[in-house]
Amino acid sequence: MKGFGVRVRPAGFLTVGGSHPAAMGADVTFARLYRRERLGDAELYIPASSLKGSLRSAASRVAAAYNVGRFTSCGQVDPALIAMAHRRTDGSFEECSVCRLFGSPGRTSSPNIFFEDLIPQGGSPAVITRVKLRDDALNAMKGGLYKSEVIWGVDFVGKIFYSDEVRGLLPLLLLAFAELRMDRFGRRSAIDVRLEETSALRDDLELTWHGLLRGLEDWLWRGDV
Ligand SMILES: [Zn+2]
Repeated sequence: MKGFGVRVRPAGFLTVGGSHPAAMGADVTFARLYRRERLGDAELYIPASSLKGSLRSAASRVAAAYNVGRFTSCGQVDPALIAMAHRRTDGSFEECSVCRLFGSPGRTSSPNIFFEDLIPQGGSPAVITRVKLRDDALNAMKGGLYKSEVIWGVDFVGKIFYSDEVRGLLPLLLLAFAELRMDRFGRRSAIDVRLEETSALRDDLELTWHGLLRGLEDWLWRGDV
C-alpha cells in the first residue's frame, strides 16, 4: 500500500466527544485517549473512524457536484439501503464511487484504504471548556446546553494508505479534503487540513489533478489562526 501524510490544524471551536459531533460546520470530532501510564490525564486525538467518516460524507456531497458521471454516490449510510441503491435495473449490482473508495460505512477497515488515528504533534493541545447553547435547540429546555471546547496550539498528524484498486478514485478523495476545509457555503471550517509526503500520491494522479493537490499541500487559512 502507498500512503501520504495528513496534518489537521484546529482553527476554531470544536466539540470533543461523540454526542455533538458537529460544531461550526466541521464534522471531524476529537476524542480523548486515556493512557495507562498517565492515569486521570487524557490526551486528545482524532480517531481514524472520525476522519474517515467525515471524508466519506464530504465525498458524498461533492460526488454529485464535480465531474458529473465520473464519480457517483448512492448517498446512503444504512447497509440495507446501500444494497438497494447499488442495484441496477437489470438486477445486477454496481457499487458507487464513494462505497468503492471508503468501503461500507461504520467499518474502520476497508481492503482499499486505511486511515491512521491523528495524534497531536509537538505538545498537548490547549483546551478551554465553555458552555454553549445549541443553535438548533433554542426552544428546547432540555439538552439545549452543551459543553464546547476550543482547541489550538497543536497539529494532529497521521497517515492514509491506499491500494492500487482505488487509484482512479484518488481525485474524489482530494475533492473530499477540499470540501472538508471549506463548507459548501464557502465558509471556513473549524479545521484546516494539509497533505504531506505526497510524492506517491502525485505519481498516481492524472496531471489535471495536480493543481488541486498543490492547493491541499498548503494551509487554506494560513496566517489568521
Ligand atoms: Zn454506495
